[in-house]
Amino acid sequence: CGIVGYVGNQDAKEILLKGLEKLEYRGYDSAGIAIVNEDGVQLFKEKGRIAQLREVVDENKTGTVGIGHTRWATHGAPSRVNAHPHQSTSHRFTIVHNGVIENYEEIQKDYLQDVTFISETDTEVIVQLIERSMDEGNNVERAFRQTLSLLKGSYAIALLDETDPEKIYVGKNKSPLLVGLGDGVNVVASDAMAMLNVTNEFVELMDQEIVIVTREAVTIKNLAGVTVNRDSYIAELDA
Ligand code: GLU
Repeated sequence: CGIVGYVGNQDAKEILLKGLEKLEYRGYDSAGIAIVNEDGVQLFKEKGRIAQLREVVDENKTGTVGIGHTRWATHGAPSRVNAHPHQSTSHRFTIVHNGVIENYEEIQKDYLQDVTFISETDTEVIVQLIERSMDEGNNVERAFRQTLSLLKGSYAIALLDETDPEKIYVGKNKSPLLVGLGDGVNVVASDAMAMLNVTNEFVELMDQEIVIVTREAVTIKNLAGVTVNRDSYIAELDA
């Protein structure tokens, strides 16, 4: 029911967990984070409260890029397996998603018949479809845009690519999502409140836009791949 993402220079775990705590008011039944570094993606998720998630997070694993999620289950019971993040079969891609994919059964039938699904969520089709689209020779940005074009319903998504650990891809349709701009740090969140500890400068996203977020840059594009320019604003809120 809320998402956060961080691309910066500090260990992402605590920033993501604190961000998720700020989103607790939205309601949730499970939570998770993923961090990425040169050794790959580390995934931590749990049914229940953020406090329970904290108990399974391994303090020794560090990474300066990561994504987090609080889940309000719509498809698949609240459980550790159904909690986000979700990964593609090869584990190359890791995703968090808020919203509902209305045509996930059609997508499964039309494109992913041979895929073994791990969870019961509608979300997992997104990450599997990105991987499938890569098999067809696309680059990640194109695979991401192509996948989002096929989705019907609502989404705020953040995606990690294990082979490119300096980047987060995000996308949005009918679910709120903001990008926060810092100095050598950029973030994403469902609500500015989650990232006020990092920055108070935000850019709003429109439906059917994606953003490629790195430490130094935030590039907004539409699903056709055309770059969009938009001014940022200062959020007048107290952390
Ligand atoms: N539909 C997804 C699920 O049930 C996401 C729910 C949410 O927005 O938290 O896992």
